[in-house]
Amino acid sequence: MIGSAADGTVDEARAAGESAVAAFDGWRGLAAEERSARLRRGLDTIRERSEPLARLLSLENGKPFREAHGEILRGAAMLEWGIEEGRRVYGRVTPSSSGTRGVVLTSPVGPALVITPWNFPASMLMRKMGLSLSAGSPVIAKPAEQTPLIAVAIAKILNEFLPAGVVNVVTTSQPGAVVDELMKNPRIRKVTFTGSTEVGLRLLRTPTSILKRVSLELGGHTPAIVFPDADVEAAIDSIMTAKFANAGQSCISINRLFVHSDVRDEVVAGLRERIGRLQIGHGFDEETSIGPLIDANGLEKVERHVADARERGAEVLAGGSRWHPDDATLRGEFFEPTLLAGVDESMIISKEETFGPVLPVFEFTDDDDVIAQANNTTYGLSAYVFGADFDVLWGAMERLEFGVIGVNEVMPNRPELPFGGFKNSGQGREGGNEGIEDYVETKAVAIRTGRGRI
Ligand code: NAD
Repeated sequence: MIGSAADGTVDEARAAGESAVAAFDGWRGLAAEERSARLRRGLDTIRERSEPLARLLSLENGKPFREAHGEILRGAAMLEWGIEEGRRVYGRVTPSSSGTRGVVLTSPVGPALVITPWNFPASMLMRKMGLSLSAGSPVIAKPAEQTPLIAVAIAKILNEFLPAGVVNVVTTSQPGAVVDELMKNPRIRKVTFTGSTEVGLRLLRTPTSILKRVSLELGGHTPAIVFPDADVEAAIDSIMTAKFANAGQSCISINRLFVHSDVRDEVVAGLRERIGRLQIGHGFDEETSIGPLIDANGLEKVERHVADARERGAEVLAGGSRWHPDDATLRGEFFEPTLLAGVDESMIISKEETFGPVLPVFEFTDDDDVIAQANNTTYGLSAYVFGADFDVLWGAMERLEFGVIGVNEVMPNRPELPFGGFKNSGQGREGGNEGIEDYVETKAVAIRTGRGRI
């Protein structure tokens, strides 16, 4: 047992919503500069306390401490981006005929319901809160039930510097009921959600008396393509990171690896060798590169996908099974890092997100066909390409139907780039100049000056 969190009720959720609503006028009334200064004090404290926060995150989620620390620092960079963007949201005066002017004003969208997943419970929260708070809207955070503690720890730090009611957190074991209650509040105007496509679609269908702006960052089914002229060693390094970080439990983790037949054997041999070097273990052990899956449901899904692939003829080149620690004090649901060959489109693994350390390899010979194959998914979050020929890489970049693309690069989840997906991977973007847009309303004001002097 590493801690406990309150099991928030529907009544408490309603009160948290009202608390955010009550804080709205005061918070939006502060100058952007003042909001930003207060948030920056919170940001500095998060950075100062990054190690204890990372320890809590590692204990709660299971990811290795190094990754947890990286997540806290990345989340802080996202929070910082949001804080800076809040000072850059302002309107404009439009060209108009004599005696009239057009003015575009901006205002905060209103209190935001922030729903976050367990796989990146710190960075997702900081990214969303940074945008909402700096644009002038209080938040009600609803963290995933698997990882409430890190959310509470981050919110407590921010609350040291913010007026009461600006940051509210509802931890609960009944997310559906709590979120439904908050969706009913007409003064909550914004919902930002990261999680599964299933729950995202459900949110869109939840009745509300007043429409809310809904941003969704949902699942993915990331293809990675290795063209024959790729720097194979560098590509293997990147693939290892993009597949096995967070034990594969990332929406931008590689789900399908397409390798050109000219380099297929070399890539597969390199991957096998590197996979053999991965260490499963406790997050605080410096040697550990892979921690446990989030829970028994996560493990069951990975086992089901691998069993289905095997039954349909896939070949297991590495791993393939549950992993049982020798050390009885090491608890958790572990799965071996796994490499599958002979994978085809009939297998569940080539359609659904596995969310585990399993890498299925496909072989291709035609550069055009492989793009069509990569696009053959209902998801559209991220895609990676490795190669050297500029025309091939540029063509891939233009034709791939994904919101985030890495060229000889993986997991480019940088604050300054807009992040979000096509198709069933979601709607809206967070990060980049686009990120703040979903957190502001615009007003178009037409003015007749009367005397015609301007
Ligand atoms: P999930 O959808 O079950 O949970 C996400 C959040 O929704 C949690 O806070 C949970 O408590 C809440 N929730 C659960 N049921 C709900 C309901 N009925 N109504 C309202 N809220 C509800 O997903 P998960 O298992 O926690 O996360 C994994 C999924 O998230 C994967 O599919 C992954 O790809 C996706 N994800 C996407 C991104 C992205 O940026 N696109 C990032 C991380 C994770």
